[in-house]
Formats: sequence, structure tokens, C-alpha cells
Amino acid sequence: MLGILGGGQLAQMMAQAARPLGISCIVVDPNPDACAASDAELWVHAYDDESALHRLAERCDAVTFEFENVPASSVELLSGEVGIFPSAESLRVSSNRIVEKQFFESTGVAVGPYLEVRSPEDLSRAITELGLPGVLKSCSGGYDGKGQLVLRNDAHLSQATEWVHTGRWIYEAFVAFDRELSIIACRSREGEIQTYTLAENTHERGMLVRSEAPADVSESVETQARRAARKIAERLGYVGVFAIEFFDVGGTLLANEMAPRVHNTGHWTIEGAQTSQFENHVRAVMGLPLGPTGVIGHSVMLNLIGRMPEAIFLGDEPDAALHDYGKTERRGRKIGHVTVTAPDRSKCLCRADRIMDRLWNELPE
Ligand code: AMP
Repeated sequence: MLGILGGGQLAQMMAQAARPLGISCIVVDPNPDACAASDAELWVHAYDDESALHRLAERCDAVTFEFENVPASSVELLSGEVGIFPSAESLRVSSNRIVEKQFFESTGVAVGPYLEVRSPEDLSRAITELGLPGVLKSCSGGYDGKGQLVLRNDAHLSQATEWVHTGRWIYEAFVAFDRELSIIACRSREGEIQTYTLAENTHERGMLVRSEAPADVSESVETQARRAARKIAERLGYVGVFAIEFFDVGGTLLANEMAPRVHNTGHWTIEGAQTSQFENHVRAVMGLPLGPTGVIGHSVMLNLIGRMPEAIFLGDEPDAALHDYGKTERRGRKIGHVTVTAPDRSKCLCRADRIMDRLWNELPE
């Protein structure tokens, strides 16, 4: 039995991947409508409900997470009673943007210029040093572009000044990247590391809308990403799947952030790789050997955001797989995705364009 904190679509797809391995899942989520209930036993509890966590540890062979901001006290409690993966240390590093950037640098993984901001004075110093435009982000808790502001002019500046009166922030120089890339990697309990090919990602207003894999990159770019993933996995003694997002600036990769979990830019692996990121995560945390990560043709993953398209029937498109998470429609919410596959890139892009014409994506606010 595998326990998962968080009962959203990531837990749902983990549970779907666990079933053919003969592994059942319990998901813990305070939301009684958590969508992973479709494929797992749902326990409706707060993430820091100690008695529920004790019971979870008793019932499960291992516990994992679908999000990184798990209360530290819950991680500590579980660590004393059951194998939890990734470790408390991996979560600590990746749940704070400053700590994470410092960790990347100490591991020899390049990052863009940044400064920590704890007050309006820090903010003006950071702007003087790193210039405009720049991106102000909360150090922890932000996702899908939330808790972030691109600073270009005085109006943005006054809003940013309001924000930084409380909390911890990071000001990053705006990176004029050529494109955004990500790598999904996995390390087993035995220390075996597998990396997937790179994906090229398109974001709209901070939110992922499309991933294409394999990304059309040089060998040098591929090597930089795979090397970074290995170093990070080894340094953290990481167990499970993680993702690193990069900015590609003229063939040099700058790490933006890592996610200590299965990741939206790896959803293509369900149809497009020999073993999906979800199966490999389950394998890693349950102490099983990893599956091979080679690609099967070319894939494009399209997120369905906000509302299900009316013309969602894709039964006549054998190379398009619809994943409907069964979540209530809400503006800016990821409620499903479609992966289009083909033996080669040009066919795949053609098919993806055709499918895009049939669907529509509500853009995030
Ligand atoms: P993040 O939450 O850090 O992944 O940021 C969400 C998206 O905002 C990224 O995928 C980029 O498209 C954009 N972004 C974030 N940081 C920067 C930056 N320093 N320079 C340029 N674009 C950025």
C-alpha cells in the first residue's frame, strides 16, 4: 500500500500507474471532492492531522507527496514511522526558492542573477543591482505563476512594494530566454538514476499550456540537463521522480526551479515513454527497480485549463489520448490534458495543430 499526501490529478495518475503493479493507494486530502478518489481510497483529513498520519503510516509500506509544501511537522511525524520519499531534506531544499537557488549553485548548476528581498529597501536595492525588468516571486508557496509579478514600470513597482512589507521574496533578473526546457529524472532507493529526454515547454502567464518531447536540442544542451539532474539526485540522495525547469539562453541552461515530485511537463511520458514518470515514481518510492525511460516517437501534451472544450470527443483520433481529471471547471484550473503522439516530429506537430483547432484553451487570467 502506498500513501500519498494530496489527492489531485498527480496523485490520481500515480494511483493509475500503481494498479498494474499490484499496488493500491490511500490519498489524504482535506477536500472531500479530491479527484484522486476515482483511483484510490480517499481519507479526508488536514495534512497535519496527527492521528490520521499515524494510521496512514501503519497501513502503508511507503508514503509520498504530490506537492512540496507539506507541513514540516507532518513530514517529521511520518519519517519516524514509515519510509517517506522524497526525504524531508529534499522537500526543505525545493520548497524555498532562495534555498533551492543556493543549492543549485553549490552543486555547480548555473542559475540566473537573483537577490533575496525582505523589505521595500531590499527591493529597491535589488532593482538597482539587477535592473528592470525583473520578476518578484514569493520564496515559498507560489505555483502556476501565483505569488509572482513581472516588474517593468512604476505601476508594478508600487504593487511590488506593497507585497514585500511582509514575508520572504526573491527578485530575479528577467531572463531573455530562447525557450523553456525541463527534464524529468528518477532515482531509486538503491541509487539507480534514470533521466527522460528533455521537453520544451510553453507557458502563458506563468502557467504551462504545452510540452513537446523530445525537445529539438543539441547534444550539449541535453548533456547539461542530464548532468544537472544526476548531480542534484546524488547530492540529495533523492528517491522518486523530480523535475528541473531550465531557461535556454543561447545553448546555456540556467536552472529556474525544481519540483520534488511528478510534474506537468512529464505527463507526455504516459504515452510517449517506455515507462511513465508516474510508474517510475511509484517504483522508486516502493523500493522496486526503475523501468526504462526511452521515448516512443514524438509527443505533444496540451493542458486543458478552466473549462472542458465542448468538442472533446477524440475517439476518431487514435493518436490523441484525453486525460479528464474529473475536476470541477474553474477559471485558471488545470482540469485535464491531451497527449498527441506520432512516429516523428513533423507528423506529431501537424496532429497537435489539428487537435488544437478542435479544442480550445481558456487562457489563465
Ligand atoms: P516559475 O514559477 O518560477 O516556474 O515561473 C513561471 C514562469 O514565469 C516560467 O516558466 C517563465 O515562463 C516565467 N519566468 C519565471 N521566472 C522568470 C525569469 N527570471 N525571467 C523570465 N521569465 C521568468
